[in-house]
Amino acid sequence: MIKRNPLVMVPGPTPVARSIQQAMGRETISFNDPGLVAEFNALVADLVSIWRCDGIAFVVAGSGTMAMEMGITNVTAKGDRVLLCSNGHFGERFIDICSRKGFDIEVLRPPKWGLSVTVDEVDKKLSGSKFDVLVITHIETSTGVEFPLRELTRMMRSKHPETLIVVDGVASMGGVEAYMDWGIDVMLSCSQKCFGISPGLALLWASERAIARRRSMPPLAESYVDFEKWIPVMKDTMKYWGTPPVNMIWALIEAMRIIKEEGLENRFKRHRAYAAAIRKTISAMGFKSGAEENVASPTVTVGLYPEACGLDDAAFRNAVYDEGAHIAGCLGDFAGKGFRIGHMGNIDEHTLVSLIASIERACIKCGYKIEPGVGLAVMQKALLEL
Ligand SMILES: *Cc1c(COP(=O)(O)O)cnc(C)c1O
Repeated sequence: MIKRNPLVMVPGPTPVARSIQQAMGRETISFNDPGLVAEFNALVADLVSIWRCDGIAFVVAGSGTMAMEMGITNVTAKGDRVLLCSNGHFGERFIDICSRKGFDIEVLRPPKWGLSVTVDEVDKKLSGSKFDVLVITHIETSTGVEFPLRELTRMMRSKHPETLIVVDGVASMGGVEAYMDWGIDVMLSCSQKCFGISPGLALLWASERAIARRRSMPPLAESYVDFEKWIPVMKDTMKYWGTPPVNMIWALIEAMRIIKEEGLENRFKRHRAYAAAIRKTISAMGFKSGAEENVASPTVTVGLYPEACGLDDAAFRNAVYDEGAHIAGCLGDFAGKGFRIGHMGNIDEHTLVSLIASIERACIKCGYKIEPGVGLAVMQKALLEL
């Protein structure tokens, strides 16, 4: 029998479409090949216009974490006041990055994992004292919680327009609504989540205001991630700073072609519909969503084990793997108590049905007694209603 790779249903990397694999597999040419330069320039222009950015988009080799570091470093000077909203593991990562840099930081956290810091709490905090920068995680991958970004940007624009907004959009960009002209100053992401590319590319969008902020700051201690080094390259990709990852750029061009073909708004709708179907399905199988329903994200779902179900976390996830789907373990407060499903990017109905079938067989094989088909029936109904 053919041994297939399991479905990649972790919150990054996500399944990579054949045409994107082919783009990555092309014979590498020089970064200043005129054909590539033209394609790369067009790509950057596309990123800017599609996400309605009045500034610049950056495409740089690196992971999402580097994009976080690059994003905050270019708009925040030593001693600046930074308000960080942490809804979980990746919020804490941003705190770690900021706390090494001599910023004056304060943190807002929800009372427990699975909730989000609220827009009111941010408003209250900013009304009490001035902050230079606000940092939020749009989708917190450890809890499957979506920050109410649209509502936040509206509030910020009307009440605290002087504070810059930095958004970790790693688990949302390309799958969930977020536009720079909402008033976002720095948005950051990377290739292996909703864009459906292999890991390796960091993506950033910086508003005109963010770039002005960088220009008004003292020289950075950092070099590779300095906007000033990359701006000339992004304006004309013939210029050189660090060698662009040629094959990954082709991959992003193909990923963007797929996104445009689907239509951004359709893609957003699809992510929300699939996520709702997954939550309904796992709930029918007895699992509880780690995120409260009103903040449950369109791209990642945490399923918490029912009490006394007899499932051992590691053994269960290994069984799901053996049945054909790779899902992730939980982090922090949820560690050992459930699993995480990434449902981002270029996935379809076949993916979802196979995923649920794998989870069902693993449940039964691990001694958690559910009826075969109990989850599939709910998933099928949900897909028929799309
Ligand atoms: C995955 C992820 C990151 C980290 O990205 P890496 O590519 O692993 O460095 C940061 N923030 C969020 C919200 C993520 O989901």
